[in-house]
Amino acid sequence: MADYLIRHALILDVESENDRKADILIQDGKIAKIAPEIPEKAGATVIEAEGKYASAGWIDAHVHAYVGEGSIGIDPDRYLKDGVTFVLEAGTAGPGNFEDYLKTSVYGKKIALKSYLNLAPMGAVKGYGELTDLSKVDLDACEEMIRRYPEEIIGVKLRIDPRVCSDAPKAMELISRLSRRTGRPLTVHASRCSQMTLEEILSFMKEGDVFAHTYANKLPGLLDESGNVKEAARKARKRGVRFDLSHGKSNFSSSVAKAAFEQGFLPDAISTDLHSGSLAVVESLPMTMSKTMACGLDLRTVIRKVTADAAEMLRLTDKAAVLKEGDRADITLFSLEEGAYTFTDADGVIFSGTRMIRPCGVILGQNAYGSFPEPIRDCTAGIY
Ligand SMILES: [Zn+2]
Repeated sequence: MADYLIRHALILDVESENDRKADILIQDGKIAKIAPEIPEKAGATVIEAEGKYASAGWIDAHVHAYVGEGSIGIDPDRYLKDGVTFVLEAGTAGPGNFEDYLKTSVYGKKIALKSYLNLAPMGAVKGYGELTDLSKVDLDACEEMIRRYPEEIIGVKLRIDPRVCSDAPKAMELISRLSRRTGRPLTVHASRCSQMTLEEILSFMKEGDVFAHTYANKLPGLLDESGNVKEAARKARKRGVRFDLSHGKSNFSSSVAKAAFEQGFLPDAISTDLHSGSLAVVESLPMTMSKTMACGLDLRTVIRKVTADAAEMLRLTDKAAVLKEGDRADITLFSLEEGAYTFTDADGVIFSGTRMIRPCGVILGQNAYGSFPEPIRDCTAGIY
């Protein structure tokens, strides 16, 4: 049985702001004790975390992890090295290939994972064009797949990008119907959508639904011509519509984010939209988090957006927001470096920041993973 004693970590509490330096003892995959000085226990691997933070395990609320044929996904366990312990697969597979996705990309993985189901029969595996013929959408097949995998599928997804979808209003109507029929929230990738305004798109969305790629500098646009957050977005948020960052290859603008953050319009979750095509631009969740700090957010807010707030957005009731004795071990260790950094957003704009978040390792149940820029001393069991 692999037990761990994390020593001298600064435990970041996103709820109470009572950060404290403490040791964390993990036994049988659970947090057995959190206290200032815990004596070493026989058999427990000591992880020296002096100068490092510990928080609840990070959530990346928008990734692509379907590694089947023709798909753009990245093996979900690859995200562990970014300090991520839970990923949400943002609907790469549709009802026609969801079971292949489960077989190739989900079963047997170490990381925790849930999924959206794409409205299109074969999802978005082949790049663009999955909703150019809406007569092929089969709501009964989608519903059947959700009935078969109610635990795995936590939402339904579509893209109304004109390269992908021929009739955005019709597609929004179809996904709304599916969402109501199955009780699953809908998520929309609306970036580049020219057929509908932001207000029209959001009018289809209800409490718990998720608007992705919020800070894209593209139609339908979060900001009006004067650079103010559109009233439609504020109204939608008030009635419970969620806004996800989902950086992606071309959907995060530092100037849009800076303006929106200044006006108090923060994302519900900071997420990457990582896949093989966006990896070079996005790099990782901690890189995306560091970019949001350069755009004005503080560390506690950023950590909350990948723990408590992301869990709430995805309705993950069993994902703890803070580290507590008795809970399953689900911990991310990281450091915050200070210096002069340059970042590049999805439009190629370079901007500067002074802080960089670096993951050092994660403990998930009985396993520790830590082969990062700063490997944790003695954290050898189960190295990813
Ligand atoms: Zn995506």
